[in-house]
Amino acid sequence: MLRQVAEGVLIHESEFCQSNAIVVQGRAGVLLIDPGVRDDEMAALANDLRELGQPVVAGFSTHPHWDHLLWHAGLGAAPRYGTARCAAAVRDELSDAGWTARIAEWIPPDIAEQISWDLFGLITGLPAETARIPWDGPQIQIIEHQAHAPGHAALLIEERGVLVAGDMLSDVLIPMLDLDGTADPIEDYLAALRLLEGVADDADVLVPGHGSTGGAGQVHARIDQDRAYMHALRDARVLSDPRLGPSAYGKDFLPGVHARQLQGLARRSERDGTPASLASGRGATGGRSMNLPVRGSLHHVELWVPDLPRAREQWGWLLGELGYQQFQDWEHGRSWRLGGTYIVVERSPALTASHHDRLRPGMNHLAFHAGSQASVDALTTAGPAHGWALLFPDRHPHAGGKDHYAAYLANTDGFEVELAAAET
Ligand SMILES: [Zn+2]
Ligand SMILES: [Zn+2]
Repeated sequence: MLRQVAEGVLIHESEFCQSNAIVVQGRAGVLLIDPGVRDDEMAALANDLRELGQPVVAGFSTHPHWDHLLWHAGLGAAPRYGTARCAAAVRDELSDAGWTARIAEWIPPDIAEQISWDLFGLITGLPAETARIPWDGPQIQIIEHQAHAPGHAALLIEERGVLVAGDMLSDVLIPMLDLDGTADPIEDYLAALRLLEGVADDADVLVPGHGSTGGAGQVHARIDQDRAYMHALRDARVLSDPRLGPSAYGKDFLPGVHARQLQGLARRSERDGTPASLASGRGATGGRSMNLPVRGSLHHVELWVPDLPRAREQWGWLLGELGYQQFQDWEHGRSWRLGGTYIVVERSPALTASHHDRLRPGMNHLAFHAGSQASVDALTTAGPAHGWALLFPDRHPHAGGKDHYAAYLANTDGFEVELAAAET
C-alpha cells in the first residue's frame, strides 16, 4: 500500500478524496506528513511501518484543515509539527466546545463514521520563520504562505527532489481560497504560487495533498493551471479548467465550490465597500466588479422534469443559444450557467407527477433577455426542431403587448419560456 515516489519517500493514497500521506525515511525512523483520513487506513499504515522497522519519529501537518490533522495511536507519540500559524488556528478551533459538530459539517457521512477524533489536531507550532523541519533526516525546507489556509506550508525535500504541495497544485481539485482568513485571498494565492515557482526547478516529483503525483514537467504545468484559475476568478472570465469538466473527479461538488468562491468574493467586496477589482488589488480596470452577481439577482432556478434526456436536449439547445454554458452534470440532472445565474433541470426520484402544467399554481413561464428582434426570430424559427413550439401564433410577436417584442415558446413537457427582444 505504500508506494515509493523517490528514494526514501513513499506515499499512501487514501480512498477519501485521493488524499496523500507522505512518509520520508530518516536515520532513526520516518517523518509522516499529513497522515491520512480513515482510521483503518492509518492503522494499516502504522502496521506497515512497524513491519518495515521504521518508527514514526516526527509528524507534520501542512495546514489546519481537518483532513490533514488526524492521527492514529499505532503511529506512536512523536511530536507533530506545523507552522506557528497552523498550530494557532487549530488551537482556536479546538477551544470551542462545539468543534466536532462544526468540523462534521464538512465531512460526508460515510467518511465521518470511519474517522477517530481521539488524537486530532495535537500540533506543535514551529517558531515563526523556521526554515527547516527539526528532525534527523533529509533536509526539508518549509515554504509558508497564506493561500488556502492560515499558515499553510509546502515542503521541499531537498535531497530527494520532492515538493509536497499541501492543498495546492492538484490535478483533481481546483484551488480553494481561504476567504475569511486573509485580507486579499486571491493575491495571497498568487503569491504562494510564486513561492512554489521559485523552487519548482528543484523538484522532480510533486505530491499534492489530493490527487496524482506528478513528474518534473508537472510542477510548472500545475502552477500555471492554478494561476489560470485564479486569474479567471479574479477577472470573472469564463473558465475552461479540466478539473471542473463534466467527467472530472469532482464533477459532483467542485462546480458548487467554484460558485461559492465567486459568491464569497462578491460578498467580500460588498462588505469592504470596494469594487471587487480593487479588493483583489487589481485597480479599477479589473473587469470583475461589472460581472459580479448583483445582490438579489437570481442564484439559480431548478426545474423538475419528467424526462431528463429530453430536458437535456431541449433546454440544452435553448440555453446554449442564449449563451449559457453547461455547468453541472450528474445522474439526475444537468445545469447551465450564465454569469451569476444557473438553471437546473432535474429528474428527481422524489418527483410526484408526470407532467408540468403551466396553468396551475406555480411557475407559469421563465422569461429571458434574448437580444435583438432578429435573434428572437431566429430562435422562434429554429425552436420546433428542438422541441420548442410557438404559443399564441396569432398574436406573435406582440402577444405580450404592442410595445413588447417577444416569442412565447413551450416545449414537449409543457414548460413555457418567453424570449424578450431588447427594447430598441
Ligand atoms: Zn485543505
Ligand atoms: Zn485537504
